[in-house]
Amino acid sequence: MQFHKLPAALAALPSLLANLPKGHLAAATTVAVLIAMLLVLLPSERVEAKRVVMEIPLNLDSRPQLPSAEDTGHAPATGVLDDLDWREERVRRGDTLTSVFRRLSLGLGDVYAVTSADADSEALARLHIGETLAVAFGEDGTLDKLRYSPSPTETYLYEYLGPDAGFARQYLVTEPERAAVARSGTIRSSLFVDAEAIGLSHAQIMELAGIFAWDIDFALDLRDGDSFNVLFEEKFLDGRKIGNGDILAARFTNQGTTYTAVRFVAPDGSADYYTPEGRPMRKAFLRAPLDFTRVSSNFNPKRLHPVFKTVRPHNGIDYAASRGTPVYAAGNGKVVRAGHTGPNGNYVVIQHGTQYTTKYLHLHKRLVKVGQTLKQGQVIGTVGSTGYATGPHLHYEFLVDGVHRNPRTVALPKAEPIPTRLRADFTAGTQTLLAQLDSQAAPLALGD
Ligand SMILES: [Zn+2]
Repeated sequence: MQFHKLPAALAALPSLLANLPKGHLAAATTVAVLIAMLLVLLPSERVEAKRVVMEIPLNLDSRPQLPSAEDTGHAPATGVLDDLDWREERVRRGDTLTSVFRRLSLGLGDVYAVTSADADSEALARLHIGETLAVAFGEDGTLDKLRYSPSPTETYLYEYLGPDAGFARQYLVTEPERAAVARSGTIRSSLFVDAEAIGLSHAQIMELAGIFAWDIDFALDLRDGDSFNVLFEEKFLDGRKIGNGDILAARFTNQGTTYTAVRFVAPDGSADYYTPEGRPMRKAFLRAPLDFTRVSSNFNPKRLHPVFKTVRPHNGIDYAASRGTPVYAAGNGKVVRAGHTGPNGNYVVIQHGTQYTTKYLHLHKRLVKVGQTLKQGQVIGTVGSTGYATGPHLHYEFLVDGVHRNPRTVALPKAEPIPTRLRADFTAGTQTLLAQLDSQAAPLALGD
């Protein structure tokens, strides 16, 4: 267990306690008891922090008193460390700060005073339904503190300093604890259903598909029996799970070919995914130039041409997707042709270096012009049914030295491996993750 923010909070405690008026002695006692409880959970290397804490109970505690067991939602550390009588009000549909304040028996003067302290961030201008505002009153019955937590780990605390200073705002972030968990799954119905079944969030499923987007065409190439392992972070606050974090390592076996990726954070703080050998997962071309979740039917190379009703040589891949689905540039490049013809409808042709060309036909809208330089993933248009097309779909072609190739199987240039100066860091940072990914590769039992 770790409480990353605790040492700083503890260091501030003596002065915090010294400033407490006498009437707050009970509060101080509560603080002491709470700190003593947290102390039990502190890892042993936090010796310095312990020393600070140990002194506090001696001066204050004559009648130990347990902290209130009341569940204050995702109460931040600062909320726990006082014994004020907080009153909470939940944000409802149509609420403004004024209407919430009114329910808390606060007036327009209070709204003005608090929002003046909030002018630069305007956090209070973005209240969401279901969030909670909590207020505490001073002994004279006026507003003393206001607490607003837009997420389980963030709190804005507004505190009254006096008639001259008004309210001061603090933005407090609690670092959640993180634990790595390994899960594995098998494709039986779809990536979404099967990955959700082993505990991945929607965002993580998109992240997983994003990691392998250069190797696997999730729109058309996924098969029953494909399998995957994922090592990811779970985040906890006060022992309660508050969400999932990053994917740390992942393996995907698609039609018998296995791809492995591991997350590496470079010394400059940038994070990306690499093969175990240190080559970036990112490559010059995406396997599919559109979001796989939007593709609605499978590609059948022997199907009759939808317009001519005969089997014709077909130089590309058709992705059936609803009109308006964004189409991405498969790689960095330059638009060499963009226009409209009878058969092609609205089309775009991109040149990538000297060797590679990609073509995108039947677009509803073209969003790029000839001569424009594009980055991989940039939207070049939207799926449509212009030209010879019975329904909305993207016809996508991939040419190497002017010859049509299958973009899903063509060998692509390998990305440069991680630089030599980072090799040692890379090995140190990723070995454990890959071992953890492998250690729990057995499918998770999900019951019946
Ligand atoms: Zn086609």
